[in-house]
Amino acid sequence: MPTIDDWFDEKTLLDMAPPKVFVDGASAAEHGSVQILEHDESHLRAHVDDTEVYETRFWLNGGELKWSCTCGAAAAHPCEHLLASALATWPGEVPPDAG
Ligand SMILES: [Zn+2]
Repeated sequence: MPTIDDWFDEKTLLDMAPPKVFVDGASAAEHGSVQILEHDESHLRAHVDDTEVYETRFWLNGGELKWSCTCGAAAAHPCEHLLASALATWPGEVPPDAG
């Protein structure tokens, strides 16, 4: 069974989101704006500190990746907050959040 991390590679993310959203998300992740709250094989929940704190969620449903973000912009494709959250799961990309 694929895990949710299998969806968070660069190619898959670029297939899902426009390049600008990917770049904005990568920038947010690099600046440490992402706090991972829950991350297991089928679920990712995080807070992203933008102009306000948004809560992002990815989950698997019947082998499909689903997502939501409290900014309200994530519909046809994930928003930059969701991209930032996904990118923040990459090992070595962002220092582990101590708390
Ligand atoms: Zn968002």
